[in-house]
Amino acid sequence: MTYTDIRLGDIVQMRKPHPCGSTQWEVVRLGADIGIRCSRCSRRVLLPRTQFLRQVKTLVSPGTQTDSQMSEIQ
Ligand SMILES: [Zn+2]
Repeated sequence: MTYTDIRLGDIVQMRKPHPCGSTQWEVVRLGADIGIRCSRCSRRVLLPRTQFLRQVKTLVSPGTQTDSQMSEIQ
């Protein structure tokens, strides 16, 4: 799948499970690095955007970020 339109609040499934066993993460920070929070243990991780996109398996639930916020990032 192609997933490049990253939004705050996106719930994504990663290819590799977290040590806690969860594969679902929520996008909590956007920028050069993408901040994600584990849906089970709430641990936060920062990943470079390219690495994040490689590790995402699928978008489970899209977030609610507005278009105006989007233009600030790009
Ligand atoms: Zn976890």
